[in-house]
Amino acid sequence: MNDTKTALVTGANKGIGFAIAQGLGAIGFTVGVGARDDARREEAVERLRSAGIEAFGVALDVTSDDSVAAAAATIERTAGRLDVLVNNAGISGRTDGGAQDPTTLDLDVVRTVLDTNVFGVVWVTNAMLPLLSRANSPRIVNMSSNMGSLTLQTGPIMAAYAPSKSMLNSVTAQYARQLADTNVIVNAACPGYVATDFTGFNAPRTPEQGAAIAIRLATLPDDGPRGGFFDDEGVVPW
Ligand code: NDP
Repeated sequence: MNDTKTALVTGANKGIGFAIAQGLGAIGFTVGVGARDDARREEAVERLRSAGIEAFGVALDVTSDDSVAAAAATIERTAGRLDVLVNNAGISGRTDGGAQDPTTLDLDVVRTVLDTNVFGVVWVTNAMLPLLSRANSPRIVNMSSNMGSLTLQTGPIMAAYAPSKSMLNSVTAQYARQLADTNVIVNAACPGYVATDFTGFNAPRTPEQGAAIAIRLATLPDDGPRGGFFDDEGVVPW
């Protein structure tokens, strides 16, 4: 088997996803930059390459079945297998007009957020599993948030976004149980509160700091934890 490991990061054109791609590239992964916009994807690939990283673009809108299938075909053609999948793409959803106040909740916003943050993860994961199963030590990392923790109940009230991450955590546990007897290790990560477009760049942590836990979970040893939820400090309560 070719020794060079390949990773796919969804939503890798900016923010935490770009930092994950950069971090994995820096430790020797060839990185598939999953992004839906052609110009933003190519610009990110160029930035990574100019930093000495082996990167290739993967056209990928996680809400489109066709796009996800085409992305799997691109990885198969380019690398023949996949070692790491980081499901990072995510959206907060609209909040104007009480759209995410539970008492005035706009269910269209809930559907849109679930489509990207949960169903997108399932579509991408299932399309990539055949390629992951060709790797010796496949890893899947789902980028969640402590806002999805029912124990912590932290952050602003956002009745579409926070439940989407609770469901993502639950889906992560289902995958880990189903894949318990395989070499595929699946975990969820919380990046902390990170300065990106997502937060209006008004947060204390850098994208590199936010990326660190995803990189750690993407490179776990074969006896590493499965089906957990982690941040830099350790286990995050469900
Ligand atoms: P950004 O808004 O900076 O980046 C989000 C990325 O996801 C972009 O590349 C965006 O692409 C992509 N994306 C969104 N929808 C789709 C789609 N349908 N298909 C493909 N790509 C898509 O956010 P962050 O980097 O801050 O967030 C990354 C992840 O971390 C998210 O899952 C978020 O929920 C999570 N997170 C972030 C926190 C923070 O403090 N920033 C805290 C906790 C969790 P495009 O440029 O085309 O829009």
